[in-house]
Amino acid sequence: MEKTSCLIIGSGPAGYTAAIYASRANLKPVLYQGIQPGGQLTITTDVENYPGYPEGIQGPEMMVDFEKQAARMGADIRYGLATKVDFSSHPLKVEIDEEKWIEADSVIISTGASAKWLGIESEQRLNGFGVSACAVCDGFFFKGKEVAIVGAGDTAAEEALYLSKICSHVHMIVRRNEMRASKVMQERVLKTDNIKIYWDSEIDEVLGDKKVEGVRIVNNKTGEKQEITLSAFFVAIGHTPNSSIFKGWIDMDEAGYIKTVPGTSKTNIVGVFASGDVQDKIYRQAVTAAGSGCMAALDAERYLSENGLH
Ligand SMILES: Cc1cc2nc3c(=O)[nH]c(=O)nc-3n(C[C@H](O)[C@H](O)[C@H](O)COP(=O)(O)OP(=O)(O)OC[C@H]3O[C@@H](n4cnc5c(N)ncnc54)[C@H](O)[C@@H]3O)c2cc1C
Repeated sequence: MEKTSCLIIGSGPAGYTAAIYASRANLKPVLYQGIQPGGQLTITTDVENYPGYPEGIQGPEMMVDFEKQAARMGADIRYGLATKVDFSSHPLKVEIDEEKWIEADSVIISTGASAKWLGIESEQRLNGFGVSACAVCDGFFFKGKEVAIVGAGDTAAEEALYLSKICSHVHMIVRRNEMRASKVMQERVLKTDNIKIYWDSEIDEVLGDKKVEGVRIVNNKTGEKQEITLSAFFVAIGHTPNSSIFKGWIDMDEAGYIKTVPGTSKTNIVGVFASGDVQDKIYRQAVTAAGSGCMAALDAERYLSENGLH
């Protein structure tokens, strides 16, 4: 069976940054990219908040830069999916593509998270052209404009408040006649003048040919439809951390986010580290994911040296 000292699972900002640091520490990391090489940023257009790109950059192009840098440092980057793990003993074992197993002295989990979408055709067609699942990432592009957000949890409330400070009006579409968000957050939303809530409402269609021009909503009690003219449509109905293959081995919260020892990337299994969105439901940014990828590689390097494995 093939054996490596450091196996990195995932090729978003966290995985590639971990690969850069692990390569430079001479751990000769092997990285499996998964089904989305480059991660979530490959489905967006402009990225303006990643330091080092003064003019901004396209998400897919930025992730090619990450990959090139990791490869130049010597990371062994492979196309393939981790399909199962066995963390019952050391070396740790990871199954790839349901075909072969790899042994590793340390594993860095950087499998990210996936935004949940409503699943309607117009939402997918205009994704990146006014449809976004990240207000912090894309709100600024719609400064002074009218926007809508769908969702009713704490994140939706937080993102609506964030948008209300940048955009002229925020139309908040809520499926039921109440919100799931905590009382404090609800009160803050309700008190904000430029947020208008549409209760018992669902999205019928996102309107626009090449970019978002509006939404048509339908009241699920009365069946009444109405169109709202706007420039962007934000979906804030939650994220799913890509952690299912680690269930039963790694401690997670009820939503499936991997738990790490605060201030480190350590999980409950010795030698297994986690970085990026799979363990972060608060910040969810490329730069924080990259930062935590760096932490994971440094934690792995220390663990390997302390145990005479490197
Ligand atoms: C539309 C959109 C726009 C965004 N815009 C911005 C922005 O402008 N600025 C910003 O800072 N952030 C932005 N973000 C957030 C940013 O993309 C994420 O915070 C960041 O990508 C998280 O990085 P990550 O490395 O943790 O994981 P991800 O980018 O989610 O990557 C996860 C990786 O893990 C791999 N993977 C998953 N499961 C497996 C498996 N079983 N085996 C092997 N590999 C696996 C996937 O293939 C993927 O390569 C945006 C997000 C979205 C959805």
